[in-house]
Amino acid sequence: NKQVILKDYVTGFPKESDMQLINGTMKLKLQEGSHGIVVKNLYLSCDPYMRIRMTRVEGPNVFTSYTPGSPLTGFGVAKVLDSGHPNFKKGDLIWGTISWEEYSLITELEGLFKIKHTDVPLSYYTGILGMPGLTAYAGFYEVCSPKKGEYVFISAASGAVGQLVGQFAKLMGCYVVGTAGSKEKVDLLRNKFGFDEAFNYKEETDLDGALKRYFPEGIDIYFENVGGKMLDAVLLNMKDHGRISVCGLVSQYNLDQPEGVQNLMCLIYKRIHMKGFVVFDYYNIYPKFLDVMLPYIREGKIMYVEDIAEGLESGPAALVGLYSGRNVGKQVVLIARD
Ligand code: NDP
Repeated sequence: NKQVILKDYVTGFPKESDMQLINGTMKLKLQEGSHGIVVKNLYLSCDPYMRIRMTRVEGPNVFTSYTPGSPLTGFGVAKVLDSGHPNFKKGDLIWGTISWEEYSLITELEGLFKIKHTDVPLSYYTGILGMPGLTAYAGFYEVCSPKKGEYVFISAASGAVGQLVGQFAKLMGCYVVGTAGSKEKVDLLRNKFGFDEAFNYKEETDLDGALKRYFPEGIDIYFENVGGKMLDAVLLNMKDHGRISVCGLVSQYNLDQPEGVQNLMCLIYKRIHMKGFVVFDYYNIYPKFLDVMLPYIREGKIMYVEDIAEGLESGPAALVGLYSGRNVGKQVVLIARD
């Protein structure tokens, strides 16, 4: 049973060598009377928050630390091989928290969802139909209170969450601009996801000036995925009563000391509403979300781009790649197709 373990807590940017592929020896048989399940892991999701779990997390936090020497855990899709639990049977497909290994014995079944619709690719349950999809949906509709015709700006816009937020905003009739870190991604935003405008933030020496170019009248909604310098520039360009939904701050996850934000006074002057959120608080709307998303996907109203790395051994490079923007779309690791 091949596994990807964390070797030790990480400081700075994570490296492939912070993880190791090993041959695990854990027993995969259900004990007599066990309510657990044995699964074959099919797809793993690479998500930016995983870096936070690679450090020693102290105090109350949404996340717990990984244990050095043990496999990483994260979202993924798996197939049930054996079950001692009445809600799961052999052959069921599930998504939820799984381990970075070929096979797992799972005893904590809370947070596992049964996959009922298999006319879409199974990998979609790591992204558009899984945790990042729900993040985009809840973060945009529930946190931003969008209205038709509003001016929306999205950072890390071609990624798992951003590409969906931009398309939701277009469906709502908003004017949408995204930023991403390469020409290929900017082309995707314009040509595949239907953003009105897009730019490469790495080519802009003056982010404030760039935002003034795209939003001469200001921004109504900023969907925040990165933080740092981008947030400072956005604050200068928000309209009065604008909304900022703080989804993530990926530019800060590898820094020992997070960067300070200079322009917070804009929150007061412009009466901005800035709200952080955690997707777990919205799991109750998952069924409603599925009812909306499945038709969108089947009817081609929402496009979706994923970047699939093949083989468990490609996992560490795929995960580390999130922090340099190597991924084009949702980063997935394929372990087995079925
Ligand atoms: P992505 O698929 O967008 O991958 C991460 C991307 O972030 C990279 O491709 C890169 O794109 C960009 N990036 C990396 N480092 C930097 C940097 N220093 N400055 C600017 N951009 C950077 O990830 P997701 O869509 O999965 O996640 C997006 C955000 O949403 C993250 O911050 C994540 O933590 C957050 N999140 C929050 C949740 C919540 O419950 N609040 C749930 C899920 C995600 P590029 O090439 O454009 O730079």
